Amino acid sequence: MSKHTVEALGNLVNGQWIVGSETFEVFNKYTGDVMVKVTKSSREDVSHAIGNALETFKTTKLTPYQRYEILMKAAELFKQRKNELALTIVREGGKVLKDASMEIDRGIQTFIASAEEAKRLQGHEVPIQGQPGSDNKIAFTLRVPVGVLCAITPFNFPFNLVAHKIAPALAAGNTVILKPAGVTPQIAAKMAEILLEAGLPPGFLNIVNGPGREIGQYLLEDARIAMYTFTGSTEVGKQIKASSGIRRVTLELGSNSPNIVHKDAPDLAKAAQLCVNKGFSNAGQACISVQRIYVHQDIYTAFVERSIEAASKLKVGDPELNETDIGPMISEKEAVRAEQWIQEAVQQGATIVYGGHRKGAILYPTIMTNTLSSMKVMCQEVFAPIVCITSYGDINEALAAANDSNYGLQAGIFTSDLQLAFRAAKELDFGGVIINDVSTFRADIMPYGGVKDSGYGKEGPRYAIQEMTNEKIVVFDI
Ligand code: NAD
Repeated sequence: MSKHTVEALGNLVNGQWIVGSETFEVFNKYTGDVMVKVTKSSREDVSHAIGNALETFKTTKLTPYQRYEILMKAAELFKQRKNELALTIVREGGKVLKDASMEIDRGIQTFIASAEEAKRLQGHEVPIQGQPGSDNKIAFTLRVPVGVLCAITPFNFPFNLVAHKIAPALAAGNTVILKPAGVTPQIAAKMAEILLEAGLPPGFLNIVNGPGREIGQYLLEDARIAMYTFTGSTEVGKQIKASSGIRRVTLELGSNSPNIVHKDAPDLAKAAQLCVNKGFSNAGQACISVQRIYVHQDIYTAFVERSIEAASKLKVGDPELNETDIGPMISEKEAVRAEQWIQEAVQQGATIVYGGHRKGAILYPTIMTNTLSSMKVMCQEVFAPIVCITSYGDINEALAAANDSNYGLQAGIFTSDLQLAFRAAKELDFGGVIINDVSTFRADIMPYGGVKDSGYGKEGPRYAIQEMTNEKIVVFDI
C-alpha cells in the first residue's frame, strides 16, 4: 500500500484541468515513490488544446500593460509559494534543495524581465524615402505575435526553462501549448495554476502531457501551430527541425562545454572550485555544464589537486536536505549509461582520479584525466557529474581542442591576459564565451543560444520575443 496519496494531474485546456483514464506515473527521483498519475493526452486532446489556443488568440486580446500586470503578479505569487515550488522540483526532478530554490529565484527574474519587455514591444521607422521613387512614402514596422506557439521543454530546469518560453511568449501576445518533460510535469502545472490565479485568461496557456515521440508527432503535424520553441537533446531537436516545414523553430540543444584554464588564471583555487562545482551541480545535467577542462601544463598538477580537494567537500545524497550538494540523476538508467561511459574511457586508457562509482541513480562526482578527444566522455554530451581534465602546452592547441566539437553552446576561459581573453572571445566557436568564470554562467536576461549542433535561435526574454513575433512593415502613401 502506498505511504501517501497519489494525486491525479490532468491536461489544461481553456482554464480547466481535464483528467482522463489513460495515465502515466511520475516518481520521486530519490525515494522512488509514485507522486502523481498524469493524464496522457490523446491525439484528440492535443487537437482540442491547439484549437482552443487558436480560438483564444483570435478572440481574446490583452493589452501590453495587462500582460505586464499578469506576469508581474505571477512573479509575486511564485515568491510567496517558493518553498512549495522548490520542493516539487526536488521531488520530481531530483535536484538538490538549494539549487531548486535558486531555480525558482531565476524563474521569477525571467518572469519579471518578460513583463518589462511586454511594455517595450516595438518596431522601427524605415527610412524608405532613401530609395528613389519612394519619396512620397512613410514606412515603419510593427512587432506582432506569431499566433499559437508550441513549447516543448526538458527535465533538467523544469521551472526556469518553462519560464523562458511561456513568459516571453505571453508577453509578446501569443497563446501557448506547452508539453513539459514527462518526468517533471508537476512544476509546469503549478506555474500554469499560478498564472491563472494571476489573471491569465483561459486558453492563453494550454498543457498536454505524455511521451515525447507520440505527443510530439501530434504537435508537429498540426498546421495551426505557428512556431515551435524547443529545449532538449540535439537528437530530438533535429527531428523537430525536420518535421516543422517552413514554420518557425528555435532549438536550445546540448553541448560538451570546454573550459580553458591558462597558466595566468587569476585565482587557480577559485577556477578549480568553479569547474568542479559547475561540472557537478544538478548532477552534471545542465546543457552548459563544465565537461572538458583544458589546463596549462605549468599549473596542471596543482589544478588537479585543487579539483579533487573541491570535489571531496561536496555532500552527495538526499536532495531534500539543505546540506546536500549532489543528488540523484534523473533515473538509474541514465546513471548506468554514464557509468558505462566512464568504464569505456578507462578501458581506452583514461584514469579516474576521483569518484567513478554509482549507487542506484546516484553517480558520484567523477574527475578523469588522460582522456582522449575520441572518448564518449569527451566528444559526446556526458550530461552526468563527470569532468575530464587535459593538459596543454600551447594555447593554440587548447583553443583548437575546445573548438573540436560538434557542439557550440558556451565556453569558458580563465586568464589575466587581456589579449588572450579577446582572442578567445573571437576564436571560440560558441554562442557565448565566458571569461574568468565557467561555461555554466548564465544570467537570464542575456542572449543565450548555441551554434552548430547546440541549436538555433536565442533565449533571454528580450531576444526570445524577437523570435516569437513577426516584424510587419507598414507603408503609407502620403
Ligand atoms: P529530450 O530531448 O529527451 O526531451 C526534451 C523534450 O522533448 C521532452 O518534453 C520530451 O518529452 C520531448 N520529446 C522527446 N522526443 C520528442 C519528439 N520526437 N518530438 C517532440 N518532442 C519530443 O531532453 P531531456 O532529456 O529532457 O533534456 C536533456 C537535454 O536537453 C540535454 O541534451 C540538454 O543539453 C538539453 N538542454 C538544453 C538546454 C539549452 O538551453 N540549450 C537547456 C537544458 C537542457
